[in-house]
Amino acid sequence: MVSLWSFYDSSNLKTQRKNEPVRVVTLGCSKNLVDSENIVTQLKANQINAEHEQDDAGADVVIVNTCGFIEAAKQESIDTILRFVDKKQQGELDKLYVTGCLSHRYRSDLEKEIPEVDAYFGTMELPALLERFEVDYRHDLIGERSIWTPPHYAYLKISEGCNRTCSFCAIPLMRGQHRSKPMESVVQEARNLVKKGVKEVILIAQELTYYGLDLYKKRSLAELLERLADVEGLEWIRLHYAYPSKFPREVFNSIARHSNICNYIDMPLQHADNEVLKRMRRQITREETVDLINYARDAVPDLAFRTTLLVGFPGETEAEFENLCRFVEDMKFDRMGVFEYSHEENTHAYQLADDVAPEVKEQRSGTLMELQKPISLQHNEQKLGSTLKVLIDRKEGGYYYGRTEQDSPEVDNEVIIGAEDYLRVGDFAHIHIDDVTEYDLHGSLKISGK
Ligand code: SF4
Repeated sequence: MVSLWSFYDSSNLKTQRKNEPVRVVTLGCSKNLVDSENIVTQLKANQINAEHEQDDAGADVVIVNTCGFIEAAKQESIDTILRFVDKKQQGELDKLYVTGCLSHRYRSDLEKEIPEVDAYFGTMELPALLERFEVDYRHDLIGERSIWTPPHYAYLKISEGCNRTCSFCAIPLMRGQHRSKPMESVVQEARNLVKKGVKEVILIAQELTYYGLDLYKKRSLAELLERLADVEGLEWIRLHYAYPSKFPREVFNSIARHSNICNYIDMPLQHADNEVLKRMRRQITREETVDLINYARDAVPDLAFRTTLLVGFPGETEAEFENLCRFVEDMKFDRMGVFEYSHEENTHAYQLADDVAPEVKEQRSGTLMELQKPISLQHNEQKLGSTLKVLIDRKEGGYYYGRTEQDSPEVDNEVIIGAEDYLRVGDFAHIHIDDVTEYDLHGSLKISGK
């Protein structure tokens, strides 16, 4: 009996599969974006027509790289998956794969509740995902990556996972224990990015300052910075996701020593009341935090200090919150973001009562941002009349938008310049600051000699 299958030889199937357009959709943080960039780099290197797009028009195969950090992010991931399930049921999609943090954390539930997805993968299962395309993971591509940020800047992930035990955080459940990337491969990846036209790399990790403790048995972030500062053509190196406890202070000396390491640090502090810090298991006190910030500002006078705070943690009293408000007023951060506590299963804090009402969380988050507005304006007013080196990120609606070394993409201030000035996206320009608001600077091209 001639089997039907003889009409389909596998190589023909492979070719057909390789031509199917694949779209990767990324949710969540910059670390997830780097993972998606690696997925597409691997698929493309195996001649699979893969791209990264929010819009999945014309895709036969979609890979959703999910976020599972907090409630709102989880909901967005589920809504996105269901949107593609719809498309699949309408016959607009051939295959739907889901990977990333939500998939890692809730795989068995998702498999039961949304069985229309062809397969779910964890955060460390890229080879298994590639198997679905009948291709192998290419080790020779490590350090090679097609990026989706504007071509002049890129995120550079220096490690994966986290060994910290912050009681509110589910990330170690999804990303595992801390694994540093070998210094040589990080430096090589930076060189490869510069070859592609990247001028700014943003160092990211779950916990940046733990770098090297596993591989080299010592905190090696400062040494890595020294190596990266020597990469020719790398004009800006920026640090994100630093952890305050046991912070390797020599990092600030490296920042001060090298003009191509931005006078910038992102260090989520979460809170500043000692009782709350203890319940959050942050391994640091308010006094130690203040001492670290003062040290940083002495070592790097022009340092832009970005932080993130968390309000509404279980049991957070009005007095504890007031303590946090005083801290914000005293420390005068250059850049600040606020999160509302999300009660996450299997975290240490999940056994505590989520007793701060949602409207109180919202009100406290609003109060902190209101306190930050005049502080941010004051910082910006100090730049009035000065000329700053600005990296031009985009042109939009008759204006150029750029950033100083004190501003990270997507989260911090922008410099807005009239399109009458001749500028090029991806270039640095010297911009005279003519006006400021709380969160933006307005300027014009500084013509040398004028
Ligand atoms: S350091 Fe960051 S990623 Fe690690 S447990 Fe704490 S909050 Fe989570």
